[in-house]
Amino acid sequence: MNGRNTNKCSVHKAKKKFGQNFLVDEHIIADIISAICPQAEDMMVEIGPGLGALTRPLLKKLNHLHVVEIDRDIIARLESDYPQDNPKSKLTVHAGDALEFDLATLSAPLRIVGNLPYNISSPLLFHFAAYAERITDMHFMLQNEVVERMVAEPSTAAYGRLSVMLQYRFVMEKLLDVPPESFRPSPKVDSAIVRMIPLPASETLVNNEKLFAAVVRMAFGQRRKTLRNTLRGYLDEMDFEKLGINSQLRAENLAVADFIKVTNYLDEKL
Ligand code: SAM
Repeated sequence: MNGRNTNKCSVHKAKKKFGQNFLVDEHIIADIISAICPQAEDMMVEIGPGLGALTRPLLKKLNHLHVVEIDRDIIARLESDYPQDNPKSKLTVHAGDALEFDLATLSAPLRIVGNLPYNISSPLLFHFAAYAERITDMHFMLQNEVVERMVAEPSTAAYGRLSVMLQYRFVMEKLLDVPPESFRPSPKVDSAIVRMIPLPASETLVNNEKLFAAVVRMAFGQRRKTLRNTLRGYLDEMDFEKLGINSQLRAENLAVADFIKVTNYLDEKL
């Protein structure tokens, strides 16, 4: 996007339904780009480029960038700035819903970045997690409260299903706090940048991923209840003894490794 766009950008009316809070703080933008550390040859995908706050500095560093955007008005801007029939265009625009975007259509290894629409951030994280083996890393702006849940330790209030389901696949680190004033319009919540790096496949030791997801969902379904209650029907007192897990604990007290242990035990037993 060149200088001509300043005018066009100023007339775009942010759409709430697409979670449009556009980054305007140049210092924060520079910090995010430096955390991502884009290298010319990277195969990078930006989710929700919007008015290009991250897209423009990324394009300065990269040979090529893929973006996925749902808003037709923004897609039209992008396609006018980067004609898609020009083989020299540095930007490929994928028009559509990122929740349905098949990352397997792009050559791995992939780097994924984005200031995500907060209304669909959890489903988006689960969507991308399914492609973990094709991904080098992901950097996302999210609601701070979601980032806190992602990186939470066991036995803390923020530790829950999201923590376990993502920590099982990724090493995650909160990098940066971002205040509401960094956006136009300002969101009502604080934001943060998180880095997610997939664990090597050899370290994700669950034999049955569907069962893992079911156990975690069930255990956290009623978080105040003990495992004895939430996992009743799956595990009896003898099973808990064999596993070396106290049935009086709650899901929030179990480490990710414990959930893996329970799942693999059940997978053999069922
Ligand atoms: N990257 C820009 C920035 O930092 O200023 C815009 C970020 S804004 C929070 C979220 C962007 O994601 C918007 O451009 C919005 O239109 C787009 N978006 C919302 N839902 C989407 C979806 N399901 N698939 C793809 N893009 C989506």
